[in-house]
Formats: sequence, structure tokens, C-alpha cells
Amino acid sequence: MKVKRILVTGGAGFLGSHICERMVNQGHDVICLDNLFTSQKINIQHLIGRPNFEFVRHDVTHPLWLEVDEIYNAACPAAPGHYQYNPIKTMKCSILGAINVLGMAKRCNAKVLQFSTSEVYGDPTVHPQPESYRGNVNPIGPRACYDEGKRAAETLFFDYNRMHKLNIRVVRIFNTYGPRMHPFDGRVVTNFIRQAIQGEDITIFGDGSQTRSFCYVDDLVDVIIAMMNGPDSFIGPVNIGNEGEFTIKQLAELVVKLTGSKSKLIFKPLPADDPTQRKPDITLARKHLGWEPKIKLEDGLVKTIESMRKLKFEDWRPPTPNF
Ligand code: UDP
Repeated sequence: MKVKRILVTGGAGFLGSHICERMVNQGHDVICLDNLFTSQKINIQHLIGRPNFEFVRHDVTHPLWLEVDEIYNAACPAAPGHYQYNPIKTMKCSILGAINVLGMAKRCNAKVLQFSTSEVYGDPTVHPQPESYRGNVNPIGPRACYDEGKRAAETLFFDYNRMHKLNIRVVRIFNTYGPRMHPFDGRVVTNFIRQAIQGEDITIFGDGSQTRSFCYVDDLVDVIIAMMNGPDSFIGPVNIGNEGEFTIKQLAELVVKLTGSKSKLIFKPLPADDPTQRKPDITLARKHLGWEPKIKLEDGLVKTIESMRKLKFEDWRPPTPNF
């Protein structure tokens, strides 16, 4: 095997830390870069001290100067509560982060994979969403800092590819869950499990009829790595996620059942611009990468509940006020 020098921006975050772990275990030389705004060192503490792992505390909105062969560009707050905390910074993270990473990739002639998002489709009017759908994003709403930032980052990736022949990959990630999510990230899976474990009311926003499709982290990490290592003729953007679509109310009921909790479901106002439905069309990922998500929601939730039961919530520093 050829040992590669791999940079993972946002490497201490939920998805980034799983990528770092896989790459370290494969024997590559891994640099994990993170400013630890929404992530914590606890996610990578098992890697610190390994000879092929290095942690750099740095903010990707400032230029980077490293020598690497591959870059996984995962740095950006991704939970609505986190990315709306400082929306200007969120947009800088996506756009300046992309410019810095792409500039560096051009200098090193590195291959670079962008962690994009299903949020590029906004509140979609086409269902399920294929990559060819151009989306329905409100450019001035509370989610725009993330949605438009990620859209602009995709533009930059494709322009670097066209102008400088940079070897790029773009994946559009749909809702993903699993161990190492921040327990106070305010997202639906973490909120519901934390509330159920602690016997608090489960907060459903709106009437709970909105849908999401949830992918377990191991399936997602498999396909991200497959995309990085896939043919140069297939650069994306490619949807990655699980096709199983559930209403938020169904998710709440499932979490209550699996935790054996006595928590009650309560209903709170729906946040502005909250997408009413979301489900990936993963035909392209199947065709080009031979990928199929394997882990069913119930099985993934059991693993996530198990890992969240082991967390000491008080050890987690909230990046934003706890919800
Ligand atoms: N949601 C909810 N209760 C919560 C947190 C989220 O009902 O405590 C809803 C939220 O309004 C949205 C869905 O769950 O419709 C998914 O929200 P999340 O923040 O996980 O991510 P999104 O897919 O909206 O980016």
C-alpha cells in the first residue's frame, strides 16, 4: 500500500473523526485540523499519540500551508443550532474554507473531497431529490448561511476543476447520525435520545409530519472513502444517505420504544424554513460506487443510544447555549 498524507479539516467533528480513525487504521499519515468550535478533543483522544496521527488546532477560514496528497474538507458547523449561532462565520467557513483548501490543493496537486449537503436542495419541491435538481433555497432565510455557503463552495470546487484541472470530489450528505455527534448539537436524533435517556419531554417541532431519511455513520463513511478512491471520471456531486424515509413523529416513537423511556412527546413551533420532506435519490452512488447503505434505522439507533448512554453530558462543552 502507498502511504498517503491525508488532511481532514473538521477532523475532530462527528464525521471528520470517523474519517481520521479509518485513515489512521489503514496506515496513512493523517493530519486532523480543527478549531474545536463545535467539536471536542474527546472525539479523537483515542488517536492522539498514534505515530501516524497529528492534531492541528487551526481555523480553516485562515490560509493553510501543509504538504498533503488528499484532503477531506469537512470543516463547517452542520447542525442548524450551531450554524445559525454565527451565520456570518458559517458562510466564511464554507467559502473562505473552500478557497484556502482548494488553493492549497492546487499548490500540492492534492485530490480534494468536499463535504456538501442535502441542504443545497433547500425545502425541495422534487421528491426524492436527484443530483440534477437545482433546489429551492431561500437565500435570505435563517438557513441560508449554511445552504448558500455550501452551494458557493460547490461552485468553487467545480471552477477549480475546470480552470486548474484540480482532482475534486463532491458528496452531498443527507441526515446522518451515530456515535460522536455532539449531545447538545440540537439535532433531532441527539435531542430525542438525550431527552429519552434523561426522562425529559421529547420536543417535536411542528406536528412531526415533516420527513427525513437517516443514514448511520458507518455506511456514510464507507461511501465517502469509496468516492475519494473512485474513478477520476466520477467527481460528483453525488447524493449519499439512506433512502428510508420517516416522519419526525415516527422517529420520536421509535426512540421512546428503543430506550424504554417514559418521556412524553410534546409539540413546539416549527423553525422557519424547516424543510417538509427530504429523501435522497442514490441511483448515482449505486451505479458508480456500487454502494448500498446496510444499517437499518432501528439498528443504528440502538448503537447510538448505547454510545450516548456512556457519555457524561456535563463533560461536553456547549458551543452555543444548550437547548
Ligand atoms: N426537530 C424536532 N425536534 C428537535 C430537533 C429537531 O422536531 O428537538 C426537527 C426539525 O424541526 C427538523 C427535523 O427534526 O424538521 C430534523 O432536524 P435537524 O436539526 O436534525 O436537521 P435538519 O435536517 O433540519 O438539518
